[in-house]
Amino acid sequence: MGVPGDYDVIIVGGGPVGLVLGNLLGQGGIRTLLVEKTTAEPRQSMAIGITPPSLEILSRVGLDATFIKEAVKIDHARIFEEKKLRGELRFNSLAGQYPFILSLPQAKTISLLEENLENFSSVRVQRHCHFLTAEEEHNHIKVVLRPDDNHDQLQKTRILVGCDGHRSDVRTAAAIPCIKARIYPHSFIMADFHDRTDFGNKAHLYFNRAGALESFPLPEKQRRWILQLNQDQKHPDGSTLIMGIKQRSGLDLIPADCGTLNCFNVHRFVCNRYFTRRIVLCGDAAHVMSPIGGQGMNTGFADAEYLASILIRHFHHSQDLETMLNDYDRVRRQAFMVAADRAARGMWLGTRRGRTASFLRGLGVSILLNTSFSNRLPPYFAMQTIPGRSRSPYHFSPGTPG
Ligand SMILES: Cc1cc2nc3c(=O)[nH]c(=O)nc-3n(C[C@H](O)[C@H](O)[C@H](O)COP(=O)(O)OP(=O)(O)OC[C@H]3O[C@@H](n4cnc5c(N)ncnc54)[C@H](O)[C@@H]3O)c2cc1C
Repeated sequence: MGVPGDYDVIIVGGGPVGLVLGNLLGQGGIRTLLVEKTTAEPRQSMAIGITPPSLEILSRVGLDATFIKEAVKIDHARIFEEKKLRGELRFNSLAGQYPFILSLPQAKTISLLEENLENFSSVRVQRHCHFLTAEEEHNHIKVVLRPDDNHDQLQKTRILVGCDGHRSDVRTAAAIPCIKARIYPHSFIMADFHDRTDFGNKAHLYFNRAGALESFPLPEKQRRWILQLNQDQKHPDGSTLIMGIKQRSGLDLIPADCGTLNCFNVHRFVCNRYFTRRIVLCGDAAHVMSPIGGQGMNTGFADAEYLASILIRHFHHSQDLETMLNDYDRVRRQAFMVAADRAARGMWLGTRRGRTASFLRGLGVSILLNTSFSNRLPPYFAMQTIPGRSRSPYHFSPGTPG
C-alpha cells in the first residue's frame, strides 16, 4: 500500500512509546506517519506497570479512563523476607488523581493506543513496513521504507523519530553510539498464570536467601510471577519456575495454569546523543534499564510527552528546534539516569543471596516500612519523584497546539 504526500514527522516503531508519541502529535494536529514492521501484537505481556505520571500523559489524549477500566489497580505491595511478611507499601496515600499503579499487559496497552489513533486525522499508521535507511538533507530527511507487500518507498519528512526499541535501526542510520552499556549477571524467568491465590489487587515481593520472586496481579484473573534464576540453571522451564515459587513463597502453582514462559537477562545503556539535526531517539531506542522496577516504558512515555511538546511548538510556532532538542537531551537523559540508578539499586538489594544478606535486608526492610520513612516510599516507586516532567518549559495543554 502506498502512502501519499510528505510528513512533518515519521515515527519508526509502533511499540508503546511510538504509539504514545503518535497520539500526542495527533492531538497537536501534526502530519505524522507511524511505521511498524510487525503484523501482530507481541505475544508476551512484557511491561505491565503503568505509573501515575504515565496516566497523566494518557489523560492528555483522553485515554486515562479507558486504561483504568481495562487494568487492575495495584494499591498495595506486600514485602516478605524468607516468607515472613516484613511490611507493606500503600499506594492509596499517593497525591494526585491516580493513587495506584495500573497493571495491564503491554499487548493491551498497544492495542488501546493504536485504536485511539483513529481519532486523529493527521496520523497514518502503516503496519508490515520496515524502516531501512535515512539521509538528512538541508531542510528535510529522505527515508526509505520497505512494505512487506510492495517495492521500497521513498518518503520525505521534516523530522524522523526512532521509537524502534533497543536494537534501533534509526539509531544505527543516524550513527549514534550507545554509551555506559552494562550487562548485569542476573537472569530471570517469568510467566503469567491463571490466578488461584487470594492476593487480589496486591503485589507480593518475596526476598529470599536463594534469590528474589515477584508477583503482580493482571486483569482477567491472571497473575505474573517473576523468578530470579540460579547461575547454574542454564535451561529453565515451567517446572523451574513452579519449584522456585514453591521454595520462595510456599505456594503450590499448577502447571496447567502457566502461560508462555519468558526468560530475560538485564542490561543497561544510554545513547551518547538523543538527536542529530533532524533524527531524534525516544524510549528504548535511546536507553534501556533493568525491567526490575518496571520503569522502562514509563520513562519512554515521558520522553514522548516532552518530545511531542517540542515538535508541536516547532511546527506551530516555528520555535528553534535545536535549542529545544538540546533541552530534550539534557532533561530526559537526567530522568533516565535517575530511573536507571533506582532500578539498579532495587535490583541489587532484591537479588543479594545468602544468609547474611537476607538477614540484613530483612532488618532494613522492616525498619524502612514500619517507620515514618515509609511515607516517602510510595511516591518513589510510583515514579512521582523522577525529575524531567513538571520542569519542562514546553508543557502544552490537551487540545491546544503549542
Ligand atoms: C520482561 C520485561 C518486563 C517489563 N516490565 C516493564 C514494566 O512493568 N513497566 C515498564 O515501564 N517497563 C517494563 N519493561 C520495559 C518495556 O517493555 C520497554 O521499556 C518498552 O517496551 C519500550 O517501548 P518502546 O516502544 O520504546 O520499544 P519497543 O517496545 O521495543 O517497540 C519498538 C517497536 O519498533 C518496531 N521496529 C523495530 N525496528 C523497526 C524497523 N526497522 N521498522 C519498523 N518497525 C520497527 C518493533 O517491531 C517494535 O514494535 C519490561 C521489559 C521486559 C523485557
